[in-house]
Amino acid sequence: MIQSVVIPWYRCSRSLEELHRRLQAALPAITGEHDIILVNDGSPEDDWRVIRDLCREDPMVVGINLSKNFGKHDATTAGLDHYCGDWVVVMDGDLGHRPGGMLKFREKAREWFDVVIGRRINGKSSVLKLLATRAFYAVFNYLSEMKGDSSHSSFGLYSRKVIDSVNRIRERNRNFYFFAIWTGFRRAEIDVQSGLRTQGGSGYTFFRMVGLAVDTIIGNSDKLLKISIKIGFVISFAVFSFIIFLVIRYFTRGIPAEGWTSVIASMYLLGGMVLCFIGVVGIYIGKIFEETKGRPLYIIDEIITAAEKGK
Ligand code: UDP
Ligand code: MG
Repeated sequence: MIQSVVIPWYRCSRSLEELHRRLQAALPAITGEHDIILVNDGSPEDDWRVIRDLCREDPMVVGINLSKNFGKHDATTAGLDHYCGDWVVVMDGDLGHRPGGMLKFREKAREWFDVVIGRRINGKSSVLKLLATRAFYAVFNYLSEMKGDSSHSSFGLYSRKVIDSVNRIRERNRNFYFFAIWTGFRRAEIDVQSGLRTQGGSGYTFFRMVGLAVDTIIGNSDKLLKISIKIGFVISFAVFSFIIFLVIRYFTRGIPAEGWTSVIASMYLLGGMVLCFIGVVGIYIGKIFEETKGRPLYIIDEIITAAEKGK
């Protein structure tokens, strides 16, 4: 059995030595054969240089350098396109995930699971980030009818079946975790300790996270469009009923409709809602535009594979 480890890499150069040491300590307990795929996602620091050095040193390390920053999920895709294991671990490179936990993942997978996801048990995040994550999952699960879990980390073990299925999905709007869940293969969770990032800040700013949340929802659900139609229908029905009421009242009791202010207010309300719904439609059209262009998900600048090293 071969085990691959795929790690998207962005501004983590100083953790590489320690991470490599931990991986080398953990992997032999799982299998004799493994490879470690490090995908440098256009990091502005000297990450690629240190990865390249490590590739020369350790024949099991494969290095992929992307031409620019494509984002974590595209970098993960690049790594998954080059895996060769029967099982694949996807994890972060910032020491937030502990390679020592991989053995537990394998043991759980032996109970007949194809996806084993790490569940964070010690929250390192701020209360605000935790609340935002929960709110996102509540909205996402409702809109997409999937069952994502806010305590799930991006540390997981996946069988070849899962990775091959996910690799067939070539949508631009990517989130590896949701794709893996979407495949529907047997899934289990195990508790993992999450370590602290030892250097640098998170690669994700607040606005980048909001953007990612919107992209993920839009990419996995068209319910917002249906909700817009429903709200539009309910409002139209209510206003139409009210007009009928006013007409009947005028003819039966001779009371004319008054209230210039209320007319203006309701016009603005409806105008605002119409603009909002057009905006929702616009976002979806924008996504369709992005998908139809069919550009590559990532561009490789340089790749150092085991085969090349043997030459
Ligand atoms: N990452 C990446 N490209 C990016 C941002 C992040 O490949 O543009 C990688 C990063 O190297 C790490 C993982 O994605 O391995 C998670 O990133 P980070 O730790 O910044 O996110 P957080 O843990 O705060 O969710
Ligand atoms: Mg992290």
